[in-house]
Amino acid sequence: MSTEIEKVKCLIIGSGPAGYTAAIYAARANMSPVLYQGMQPGGQLTTTNEVENFPGYPDGVTGPEMMIQLQAQAERFETDVRSGWVTKVDFSGDVHKVWIEDKKEIHAETVIISTGASAKYLGLESEQHYLKIGGGVSACAVCDGFFYKGQETIIVGAGDSACEEAHYLSKLCTKVTMLVRKDTFRASKIMAERVQNTENIEILYNTNTVEVLGDEHGVTGARVKNSVTGEVKGIPATGFFVAIGHKPNTDIFKPYINMDETGYIKYEKPGTSLTNVPGVFVCGDAADKTYRQAITAAGTGCMAALDAERYLAAKGH
Ligand code: NDP
Repeated sequence: MSTEIEKVKCLIIGSGPAGYTAAIYAARANMSPVLYQGMQPGGQLTTTNEVENFPGYPDGVTGPEMMIQLQAQAERFETDVRSGWVTKVDFSGDVHKVWIEDKKEIHAETVIISTGASAKYLGLESEQHYLKIGGGVSACAVCDGFFYKGQETIIVGAGDSACEEAHYLSKLCTKVTMLVRKDTFRASKIMAERVQNTENIEILYNTNTVEVLGDEHGVTGARVKNSVTGEVKGIPATGFFVAIGHKPNTDIFKPYINMDETGYIKYEKPGTSLTNVPGVFVCGDAADKTYRQAITAAGTGCMAALDAERYLAAKGH
């Protein structure tokens, strides 16, 4: 292990809209931020095709293009954007210690956690194929549902997210087929009842996806299997939505940072970006299981940079 230690004023971990927005604000406040991009530079938006709901883009923008622009904007004010990911932290003392890929050690006066969350997928090869080519697999109905207006879609999941997204899709699509792997919903009663009472949502219980079907243009449906009867059948659809939960990317912070049972970081004081560790702030999806939008992540990124700036000012820096 190298003994090289770098001291920084503001370390930002993660490169989604939250991280880059924090960087823009921190850089303009002369905090010389260093930003590590993490395992998926650009974050979840790099797996989204078209972003049409981020204010300021009247003609829409692709997710990857938007992330390139956010990075350029952060770099314009001299944010030091680096590739690499954090493998360990020690937030037990006054100085916040962070290790990059188990080698480089950084001592940061302030740390902004913007590591986001990852949508869970089924893990089927066919699902991953159409996800990669942007051909009809999505984990966000609010982001991508509009592209399936007037078409038939499938949604997998039985929690509150799946119900909310199925209901959202039902207003755009001619038919939504909901695949529930057990014979009951996990969602709250009111959310489950809403989808059960929606005419163009068909719920298939005890049903698992065997394969996402498609051609060179994208998804054409799914082959599904009933786990009770063994029946296998095909369902036509142009969009295949997966809503089986998210996992916040916060495991490395667990020993020091307060979080809920699913790993979402808890704000120390509502309406701020403060965590339980002074000088460590959080923004974006790592602390948000409700909204999960690029614009809300960007908003909290701004808050984190302002809170970090105030923290340093109070310490006389
Ligand atoms: P949940 O973890 O609550 O639900 C995940 C669902 O996906 C479960 O029904 C689970 O099935 C299913 N699932 C998991 N893996 C698979 C798989 N491999 N194949 C098929 N199905 C699978 O996640 P949510 O994102 O729905 O919700 C997260 C939290 O956010 C919850 O606390 C929820 O209440 C909250 N939330 C609240 C909302 C609101 O109140 N408006 C809106 C959205 C979320 P099974 O049931 O069989 O385990």
